[in-house]
Amino acid sequence: MTPQRRALLDTISDWPGSFTVVDLFERARRRSPRLGLATTYRTVDLLRQSGSVRPLAGEERAAYVRCGPEHHHHLVCLVCGAVEDTDECPLPSPAEIKRRYGFSPESHELEIYGTCGRCA
Ligand SMILES: [Zn+2]
Ligand SMILES: [Zn+2]
Ligand SMILES: [Zn+2]
Repeated sequence: MTPQRRALLDTISDWPGSFTVVDLFERARRRSPRLGLATTYRTVDLLRQSGSVRPLAGEERAAYVRCGPEHHHHLVCLVCGAVEDTDECPLPSPAEIKRRYGFSPESHELEIYGTCGRCA
């Protein structure tokens, strides 16, 4: 674990909402001035493969959120950018989708966009 990577992980764990790689790079560089953008991209890629960060579905810019392996969705505030996890899964079960459409689902991605309690 290099100090650069440590700085990235610490910055991500303190991050309250979604971030782009460049956002992350700029903030993490305050902790580790020798951090490079290429390292930041590489680290985000590794974290994405391990499921610790996830790209937000339905965002125009490539934004990521800190994430966990268990099934959940994100409530994304359009005003302040805060991201909260929700265990609610509004979709029908795979068995129900199979019955209705003859389609066997493997996974889905869904974020719920709106206004958080603090911004409402
Ligand atoms: Zn998540
Ligand atoms: Zn908000
Ligand atoms: Zn779901």
